[in-house]
Amino acid sequence: MSDHIDNTDKIIFAEVARWLAAVRRRPGLVAHGCCHYCDEALAPALLFCNVDCRDDYEKEQAAMIRAGRAG
Ligand SMILES: [Zn+2]
Repeated sequence: MSDHIDNTDKIIFAEVARWLAAVRRRPGLVAHGCCHYCDEALAPALLFCNVDCRDDYEKEQAAMIRAGRAG
């Protein structure tokens, strides 16, 4: 069973690393201790509580940019 757990950890770490790399490329967002999408309390360095919030936030931002009211 430990192999299964090890593999799960690798998958989770890979996803977290990919996600952190993605959010760190985003110059406009500053971590403020809450999720930028749902306002859930977070560790101070995080921008979103999970990838769903990040994806939804990006969709919302993209929609606002398309509508001409980014920011
Ligand atoms: Zn959230």
